[in-house]
Amino acid sequence: MSASLKSDLVRYDHLYIGGAWVAPEDGGFIESIDPSTGHPWAVVAYGGARDIDKAVAAARAALEGPWGRMPGHERAALLRRFADLYRDRARDLAVLETRDSGRALREARADIGGHHFGYHWWASLADKGAGRTIPFDDTVHAFTTKVPVGVVGAITPWNVPLMAAAWKLGPALAAGCTVVLKPAEQTPVTSLELGKLFEEAGFPPGVVNIVPGYGKDGAGERLTTHPDVDKIAFTGEGTTAKAILRAGAESMKRFTFELGGKSPHIIFADADLEQALNAATNSAWTLCGQSCALGSRVLVQRPVYDQVVEAFRARAGRVRVGPPLDEATHMGPQAHAEQLAKTLSYIDIGRQDGAELVTGGKRLSGGALGDGYFVEPTVFAHVGNDMRIAREEIFGPVAALIPFDDEDHAIAIANDTSYGLTAGLWTSDVGRAHRVSGRIKAGMVWVNTYRFIRWSTPYGGFKGSGWGRENGIEALDAYLETRTTVISTTGRFPDAYAT
Ligand code: NAD
Repeated sequence: MSASLKSDLVRYDHLYIGGAWVAPEDGGFIESIDPSTGHPWAVVAYGGARDIDKAVAAARAALEGPWGRMPGHERAALLRRFADLYRDRARDLAVLETRDSGRALREARADIGGHHFGYHWWASLADKGAGRTIPFDDTVHAFTTKVPVGVVGAITPWNVPLMAAAWKLGPALAAGCTVVLKPAEQTPVTSLELGKLFEEAGFPPGVVNIVPGYGKDGAGERLTTHPDVDKIAFTGEGTTAKAILRAGAESMKRFTFELGGKSPHIIFADADLEQALNAATNSAWTLCGQSCALGSRVLVQRPVYDQVVEAFRARAGRVRVGPPLDEATHMGPQAHAEQLAKTLSYIDIGRQDGAELVTGGKRLSGGALGDGYFVEPTVFAHVGNDMRIAREEIFGPVAALIPFDDEDHAIAIANDTSYGLTAGLWTSDVGRAHRVSGRIKAGMVWVNTYRFIRWSTPYGGFKGSGWGRENGIEALDAYLETRTTVISTTGRFPDAYAT
């Protein structure tokens, strides 16, 4: 990297701990790479174990101090103020996320532009964590109250840093928890920007702490082993989740895991094909294929299979791959070099395993694309569900089109996976919609739509796709403990040893 370019880098020199911007104690600095050029664009402070220890201590102090005593409606007011600031900064945040992750600006704007509604929704729940009374007899009054789980370590992935953070911060703060947020080392910038908004909104020091850092042997691992962290809210890969589970077992942490997917997107021959194709092509290539919810296995009923393959080929040709900040660009680069290599290797595997490469399959470079991590939108046909490109999460813009005969066959293929995050199906038969959606083993099933995900709709996986739910009332529960209180109305307790 040339010295002149380095001097142009945007600098984020501090971590956000205890309401202050502090230099890392035993971390250092990461160069964040702009994936559309392959060159660094920002230098970002990252924390080590001692920085995490400081952040956890600040989070604990806030929990036992003003935040822990603050009534729900006041927490709600702070969250609303934060939500409004977020709305006002959403366009800038989208640009920063695009620079850091390579996600096309038009997509980033549409997504991030709606996050403030989510924070408002969470604010509306901050004073509603009611328990219930439990009828027994007139000698006792039994009731439950909901109390915050405590200090939460929130660990997020590189593909959608702001969304993953929102899904954790919203319910955690509504529940009254405090948080140490550790974004992925590849895309730390926008999470640090959140610190400025929490500060401006007037959150007490230590309620939210933001410490970018590495995972294994770094800030992430320290969060998962720290004895004073009560819960880990994690989004990322299944193998990482298992390591985190083992690391957190010693201190009996609570966990929520949002992991990967290999979602079936089922198109029946009776579907409105135009709409189904809109959804299926978008859910193959949006975010350059780097979303856990995408329908990367497209199951197509045989009578329309060839037509759908042809339509995928044609539509791939309409995808404008380009610099992600360009308003015209549909699809930006892969978010980092390792992901680029992974996608290209899976494309080779697909070919070797005998799938038919219909279109795409190559890295794109030169001209406006320079050394960026761009890949063509790629379509494989005649994919067998036993092939690796149908079984393993690629996280690239690669659609695998699998033919099926009838409902039972579609369901068998759909469920023949170690994942169970999302699924989609397209049909004009309402009975079939109920029959098939009711038999799919996935946490979220869309019928005649795809990737409808909002703060109010519980989201999470069956099987290898995770534990627990984000979004929806269910997510609030994941940040609360239930305390049962039993009060005697008589005050009498028999002497067991009287006779
Ligand atoms: P990853 O598991 O490699 O990393 C995720 C985070 O964990 C990063 O912050 C990383 O630094 C940290 N980490 C890594 N090792 C750790 C360790 N030993 N201890 C503590 N922290 C550690 O995942 P990724 O590659 O960043 O993200 C891609 C994955 O995330 C994909 O599998 C994708 O499907 C999944 N994902 C799921 C959802 C969902 O909601 N289900 C959403 C987005 C992404």
